[in-house]
Amino acid sequence: MILVLKTTATPQQIQALRESLTARGLILQELQGESTHMIGLAGDTSGISADDVARHEAVERVMRVQTPYKLAGRKFHPDDTVITVRGSSIGGGNFDVIAGPCSVESEEQITAIAMDVKKAGAGFLRGGAFKPRSSPYAFQGLGLDGLELLKHAREQTGLPIVTEILSPEYLKDFEREVDVIQIGARNMQNFQLLREVGALGKPVLLKRGLSSTIEELLMAAEYVMAGGAREVMLCERGTRTFETATRNTLDLSAVPVLKAKSHLPVVVDPSHGTGYWDLVEPMCYAAVAAGADGLIIEVHNRPECALCDGGQSVTPDVFSRMMGKIKALRDVLAN
Ligand code: PEP
Ligand code: MN
Repeated sequence: MILVLKTTATPQQIQALRESLTARGLILQELQGESTHMIGLAGDTSGISADDVARHEAVERVMRVQTPYKLAGRKFHPDDTVITVRGSSIGGGNFDVIAGPCSVESEEQITAIAMDVKKAGAGFLRGGAFKPRSSPYAFQGLGLDGLELLKHAREQTGLPIVTEILSPEYLKDFEREVDVIQIGARNMQNFQLLREVGALGKPVLLKRGLSSTIEELLMAAEYVMAGGAREVMLCERGTRTFETATRNTLDLSAVPVLKAKSHLPVVVDPSHGTGYWDLVEPMCYAAVAAGADGLIIEVHNRPECALCDGGQSVTPDVFSRMMGKIKALRDVLAN
């Protein structure tokens, strides 16, 4: 915490401030220029309220320098977190791809796509059973039946399943059945849900909110971790901007920014980030070049018939070709 003192503060007021701070066990470091006088506070400032200090007659302004996300931040956890599920790892130099349809539609659909993405080299299977749709009349997902179909596809392929939770009502089912619990963009600041999912202690894929800052994403991760979880993947999936040529504006600069601020793995979703299947491929390569630890890609074997997000889903053939290029690109970057 840094205190900027008022230029009108008297020596007596400043001395009284010093004494009240040192009495609380803090170490003071002062910087005095011609027109500025600042006091830096070192030591445990966690019990000190910036508002209380700002009320002191000698103080003009208080700046907090400590990160508000202690569990998600790199400061107290310098080493990258590696998340390993059923043999697939993301983070700390491990790269993997989460692929599958936007939503689970039928046993044939999810099993066929799961086999295709596995063959192409994906390490995780995605598929929504509970869908957060803008319209209450749109397909809402198969619910618990969808979870059963995902489990079946996992048995067939060995791929761990990643699927979104919409409400705490199904926490027990997700705890039992799901490998990585997805918290969607619309729920990124559903703080009660974040805590309760965190308390399960399972790996979480946390998507950036529709209009959220990077700091807000990190604070949402902090909620999940304060609940108890330690394995959280941060997902950049684009935010809403004035641009209408794409569904969202994929913020690839978030990748190096998040990786500098946090030890958690960063996954990029170019499907929701762009909204168009033919933009997914170039943005996948760009995300890899930016240092992403993983990608989450929507793949559908009949995109024209998909019940959700067909326009941004790539076919298994395109996906397979992309996977080859992603590998080649990663090899180049490693050298
Ligand atoms: C999804 O992954 O299908 C989804 C709904 O994503 P988001 O929460 O990023 O919109
Ligand atoms: Mn989708």
